[in-house]
Amino acid sequence: MVSPMNGRAELRDDKVITPFGDLAPRPDIRPEVLLRLSGKLQTTLELSQLLEIFLEEIQQAVLIDGLSFHHEPSNTSIAVGRNSLHTANYRLQTQQDYMGDIAFHRSTRFREHELANIEGLMTALVYPMRNALRYHEALAAAFRDPLTGAGNRVALDKTLNREIELAKRHDQALSILMLDLDHFKRVNDEFGHSMGDKVLKEAVNAMAGCIRQTDMCFRYGGEEFLIMLSSADQAGALRIAERVRMGIGQMLFSNSKGSLQVTTSVGCATLQMSDSLEDIVSRADAALYVAKDQGRNRVICDLDMPFIEKEESQHTQE
Ligand code: GH3
Ligand code: MG
Ligand code: MG
Repeated sequence: MVSPMNGRAELRDDKVITPFGDLAPRPDIRPEVLLRLSGKLQTTLELSQLLEIFLEEIQQAVLIDGLSFHHEPSNTSIAVGRNSLHTANYRLQTQQDYMGDIAFHRSTRFREHELANIEGLMTALVYPMRNALRYHEALAAAFRDPLTGAGNRVALDKTLNREIELAKRHDQALSILMLDLDHFKRVNDEFGHSMGDKVLKEAVNAMAGCIRQTDMCFRYGGEEFLIMLSSADQAGALRIAERVRMGIGQMLFSNSKGSLQVTTSVGCATLQMSDSLEDIVSRADAALYVAKDQGRNRVICDLDMPFIEKEESQHTQE
């Protein structure tokens, strides 16, 4: 069934696409075109590849400059080809699954019979798209900490290694924050383990609210987290670290045992040209250790710890 979402406007056509067509006007697509499209769409589970194939094939039947896809639940946005003035918007969905919104772009208005053809071709996309989204979801889950939704250690190693390499190659800044919630054992002891879990989840939400889309938050272990800050020098990283520290400190929790607030200590380290992943992480860790030692609920930066540099230079002289 194909049904309009908001009626049809001049530059905008909103529709719901489902796998079973009941179209007016009827699409004018040869069965072999639909068959070839279906065959090609089954060759990949990778979302952007799927959309590239779809655009390439649909362009044989309808003049289209490009398309953009958005799937809110997985926070996925993909654009293929060129954006243009006129768009036709569709929602992909079966009775069970919502599979995202697709906008087709071109410089001239879409005609009724062209829209009918697009809709006819889109019916071939519904199930391959559902499979690709499930694959995408399974892949994402393998890199996510199930409790908090932050990246796990596998994701951390992969992402941070890649970002370190890119930052060095393009001579760009990169900083990391190592965070550890203060006296967290007390939260479990005094308020129960499920309150502890809730605090961990909310702490990650607070971190996510303080960083940019290109930055990432990982669960390093227990109540310890690492935030990767792309293109952030020491001053930028310190600013974000303070924002995160205050954001976490402002959260208020309560249950039958009473109410509580938590604080966090933060160690900050900025990439140096000779750094490996282990080097930058161990400097952030050392800074975090100093933050704990100096009384907790504070941010310490690696470059503000002369004794670390001294130790390193002594080491180099040996
Ligand atoms: P410090 O300020 O020195 O970091 O003290 P702390 O109490 O936070 O540190 P400690 O390492 O002694 O305790 C960490 C606690 O975090 C103990 C552990 O039970 C708790 N924890 C680790 N992972 C989880 C989790 O997934 N859920 C809950 N509820 N607690 C966790
Ligand atoms: Mg702790
Ligand atoms: Mg700890």
